[in-house]
Amino acid sequence: MVQLTDDCFAFEGGLIPVEVALERVRARLAPVTGIETQPLDAVLGRILGTDVVSGLDVPPHDNSAVDGWAVYLDDLDRDGETRLPIGGRVAAGQHLDRPQRRGETIRIFTGAPMPTGEGTGPDTVFMQEDCRVDGDVVVFPPGIRRGANRRFAGEDVKAGTTILRSGRRLGPPEIGLAASIGHTTLPVRTALRVAVFSTGDEVREPGTDRVAGTIYDSNRYTLKALLRGLGCAVTDLGILADHGETIRAALAAAADSHDAIITSGGVSTGEEDHVRAAVEAEGQLDAWRLAIKPGRPVALGVVRGTAFLGLPGNPVAVVVTFLHLARPILLALAGADVPTPPRYPVQAGFAYKKKAGRREYVRVRIDPVAGGLPIARRAGNEGAGILSSLVAADGLVELTDDALGLSEGDTAAYLPFSEVMR
Ligand code: AMP
Ligand code: MG
Repeated sequence: MVQLTDDCFAFEGGLIPVEVALERVRARLAPVTGIETQPLDAVLGRILGTDVVSGLDVPPHDNSAVDGWAVYLDDLDRDGETRLPIGGRVAAGQHLDRPQRRGETIRIFTGAPMPTGEGTGPDTVFMQEDCRVDGDVVVFPPGIRRGANRRFAGEDVKAGTTILRSGRRLGPPEIGLAASIGHTTLPVRTALRVAVFSTGDEVREPGTDRVAGTIYDSNRYTLKALLRGLGCAVTDLGILADHGETIRAALAAAADSHDAIITSGGVSTGEEDHVRAAVEAEGQLDAWRLAIKPGRPVALGVVRGTAFLGLPGNPVAVVVTFLHLARPILLALAGADVPTPPRYPVQAGFAYKKKAGRREYVRVRIDPVAGGLPIARRAGNEGAGILSSLVAADGLVELTDDALGLSEGDTAAYLPFSEVMR
């Protein structure tokens, strides 16, 4: 019996594996080269433009890790209590104005510099909770380890070491580390300028009147948010009608002032799908029908020297293809050195059948299991247009090109949205 072409297997023959498409596009892309200096408060999510070498030790001095009492361990009785007179006090931000003598203890607070003294000075700090103050004497129990609660100069960062490498995406810890060595700014790659538009005669701007047969544009808003999460400078070019000349002119105009153009809709095989022809007229297509579900129709290419990413129209397919195609391409274009996001093992809480020859993504929410792998359960309806199912999901279970499906209880590969929506 002839199979009607209502499913995605109709074009099985010519599907390009995702990895192959990515390689093709990456081989052609030259990352943006501009570097600008930005204040630390403005670099979250940006890509570091040069290596950063520390000019100083952090911490700059040996210091106490606790509130307590500094001692020379060799002054203490190994087997019984020791009583030492209190000789002075040093708080954070101060330093003891004389060396600590053998046979005395100094009151010290977290972050305060260790006193100098005989040899390398007192070597050990007791937590205040572990000792007893008796008038002007402190009573120490036996058994502390030499060097306890003492932090060393440079134990975090040593002067002269490279603390951050060019290409690193800057998150909160990277920004804090730069501040810890006294930087107020960082050199970052110029933000990618990305133009976004939607296509479709039925697609209307939210907030406007909607006539029968039309829908509100969700894709542009999803895409703008995804792009901003990647640190891109986004230009919103609105909604284009399903009209070849209009789309072609818009692509050509956007190409001049952007590093990448991203669209949704209009890349299938219907006669109202004009994006692909417009790209071929103004540039070159590197990949078109990809082995990915949801998402199959994706047009990757170049328009007048600017990267072009034509995503499908269905809102879930937009997100899945953005995360697996647009995101790695845009990060590479932006000069980022970002590893492939990890997949985590989970137990499939559902059975799933597929054909070999394309990778598939299932929207799931995760139920923790005490002492075992978390269970991934299907989130919502599986249609490629069901955006609410993405809201219900924590991430995606990935089935590789070769896989034929999953049985309930199988270990599956899980990609949390938290890994890739930033
Ligand atoms: P297309 O790829 O243009 O054939 O669109 C596939 C499906 O996605 C159709 O049901 C469209 O109505 C829908 N769609 C296309 N663009 C958008 C958009 N910007 N927002 C929401 N749905 C869309
Ligand atoms: Mg359309």
